[in-house]
Amino acid sequence: MIVMGIESTAHTLSIGISRNDAILSNVIDMYRGGTEGLIPRKMADHHALVFADVFSKSLESAGIAMDDVDLIAFSQGPGIGSPLSVGVSGAKYLALKHNKKLMGVNHPYAHVKIGEHACSMKNQLVLYLSGGNSQLLVEQEGHYHVLGETLDIGIGNLFDNFARSLRLKDAHGSELAKLAEGGKYVELPYSVKGMNLVFSGLLTAAEKQIGKHSGKDLAYSLMETSFAMTCEVTERALFLTKKKNLLVCGGVAQNRRLQEMLKIMCEEDGVRFGVAPDEYNRDNGAMIAYAGYLLFKKYGPMPVEKCIPIPNYRVDRIKDVLG
Ligand code: MG
Repeated sequence: MIVMGIESTAHTLSIGISRNDAILSNVIDMYRGGTEGLIPRKMADHHALVFADVFSKSLESAGIAMDDVDLIAFSQGPGIGSPLSVGVSGAKYLALKHNKKLMGVNHPYAHVKIGEHACSMKNQLVLYLSGGNSQLLVEQEGHYHVLGETLDIGIGNLFDNFARSLRLKDAHGSELAKLAEGGKYVELPYSVKGMNLVFSGLLTAAEKQIGKHSGKDLAYSLMETSFAMTCEVTERALFLTKKKNLLVCGGVAQNRRLQEMLKIMCEEDGVRFGVAPDEYNRDNGAMIAYAGYLLFKKYGPMPVEKCIPIPNYRVDRIKDVLG
């Protein structure tokens, strides 16, 4: 089965193609908002502008024609309404024009499944960290449950926001991570509630220190504190669930310092640590294609009237949407 996967939940428009569980292509075009950050309407304009180009490059790179595609999968949420709508509309247009079946995919589910696939991991605790989300997940009888999560903003949003407060040229977590290298620790508030996380107080406190300490030291301290909080809740969830595998996924999973901290923790606890290559932790269409294939096998095609964006689509609602 050949699946085309379309990703457009936030800054990235990507189209990937899979054949069964093999990835054939993964073309990614990310919108960079510069100092102003990510404005929803501008992300949507970007996606509409590059859609045709990403689409033809993805087919070309996979070495297939549109006729070969059996299913069009698209990211259905969670995401930001305007950019999300571009991908959903594009998927429906292509499906109606070329007479293909459709499948809406929960974005975190796709990050988890491609991570499992890349790391050959099963029966794991999942730590999902992205711009909008920070969650601890476990699978039970084929459905995901949220054990703990952020009670306010996602950890990636914390970094992007602080990068903007520091007026970095590119207000993105990856730029903040570069700045943080070699910084010194400044004390910042640490806020963990059981297996849940709270980041907005940390953001405010760090912002108040701008001018009193260097941007480098504050970037370093903000990242160290939030990663330490993340490790604490993850370790608590590992002990509670007695899982012997930990998979970290989502955009922030690309951060090497976080990977190092989690690896040390897992070694101490006798837990296997897994993280997919960066290509699958950033937003990408290949994971939507692969997850679309898995969901299609389980639930069959999605009727076109159900193919609408769900901006607040939680991973623990998949069976309600598809069942
Ligand atoms: Mg993502």
